[in-house]
Amino acid sequence: MLNGDLRRLGLLLGAAFILGIPFGVAGWTLFAAALFFIFGQQREFKELERWSQHPLTRPQQQRESWQDIASTLFRSLSNSRGRTHAALRQLEDMRTLSEALPDAAVVLDGNGNIERHNQAAERLLKLTTADRGANLAALIRQPDFIALLRGQLGEELIEFSSPFEEATRLEARRIRFPDERVLVLVRDVTQLNRLLSMRQDFIANVSHELRTPLTVIVGYIETLTNEDLDPDPVRDLVQKLASPSKRMQALVDDLLLLTRLEASPNPTEAELIAVNMNSLIESVVVDAQALSQGKHEFRLDLDCESAVLGIESELHSTCSNLVSNAVRYSPDGGVIEVSWNAIGDRARFSVSDQGIGIPPEHLSRLTERFYRVDLAKARTRGGTGLGLAIVKHVLKRHNSFLEVESELARGSRFYFDIPAQQLNGDTAPLREAHKHWSKEKP
Ligand code: ADP
Repeated sequence: MLNGDLRRLGLLLGAAFILGIPFGVAGWTLFAAALFFIFGQQREFKELERWSQHPLTRPQQQRESWQDIASTLFRSLSNSRGRTHAALRQLEDMRTLSEALPDAAVVLDGNGNIERHNQAAERLLKLTTADRGANLAALIRQPDFIALLRGQLGEELIEFSSPFEEATRLEARRIRFPDERVLVLVRDVTQLNRLLSMRQDFIANVSHELRTPLTVIVGYIETLTNEDLDPDPVRDLVQKLASPSKRMQALVDDLLLLTRLEASPNPTEAELIAVNMNSLIESVVVDAQALSQGKHEFRLDLDCESAVLGIESELHSTCSNLVSNAVRYSPDGGVIEVSWNAIGDRARFSVSDQGIGIPPEHLSRLTERFYRVDLAKARTRGGTGLGLAIVKHVLKRHNSFLEVESELARGSRFYFDIPAQQLNGDTAPLREAHKHWSKEKP
């Protein structure tokens, strides 16, 4: 009983005693006062009991002393409830985090049995909730993985083929907890491996492409160091250096351009200007005629006046790559048709040739760096092997993409559409005078 209650009891009994004395019933008044006090306490106790059924509501005790007890209890309960909530929130955060991980995470007990796993483990290792308690080594029957789980390897990281999908490469890491438990992390490295091998291929390709002209240049230089040479053959040899040097320069230029394009997938507003496609295409065709040295017939059909909001040098490089390919992959006498037409609200650039054509199985890979249908032939025809890769990136930067139709030994058609939002002005037909142009017509 608290001090306040004791004081109250003392006062109550004292008052009862004083009141009872004049009437000679002090014993009875004392008894009645004690009873009154006990009932009061009983009521408070009942109230406390009722509150204890729902201790998270605020207590409603009448008496201050009982109110103090209940309030202290209420405060400490509220505090611990807050702490529990915070801990639960943290736990939930950890769970969400582990579920969001793209890597499989599996916790094993000291015997290698599964305690828990995340969603990625269901995808990569085909685990289900029914596998809890099962031995992971018994479920993933892959010798290297089992050896890793058992700690039999010198290292804690291995790469292996998924037992569920041969083409998928997985990397597993084993992390020991301070207790006996083990965390196994598994991630899909198929894409990463592909990128690494692409990088290796790329370096090998660049080295190869550079080595051929370099060997030629070095050979000529060695001949030139022969001091007995007459001036005329020297001049002849120096001239021969020009071709492989230009080839190397073209390759390095294309590599730099491609790297720049890959690094910035979208041009800035400030970079875009209204490019006059008609004069651009005409100049491309003039260059292609020089390349063809009169061996092909060119037909030009310009049917769209609209300018393209783009980057002139990139559009020039794209059209030039497609037209020069038509020249290089067409036999002498072949007709090459170049057009810039309005197709609804879009504009289409198209190059058709009557050249060697491309087997269908190669079409989807043409825009890969250094991809050639016939490596040996492509090298003798010149080109860097990067042309169509550049075209692909430029078109992407202009909200377009390359399309190819081809028939082996009959010819090919490369084209792309520029969407309306990338055009400046209507796709109205050109004035008749400029519309058609061919080798014969100036
Ligand atoms: P390259 O410098 O080798 O021409 P590109 O990237 O421009 O490189 O072209 C990739 C490959 O696509 C070429 O090696 C060739 O096999 C094929 N190709 C491109 N254009 C044509 C075409 N008009 N006709 C036939 N094959 C073509």
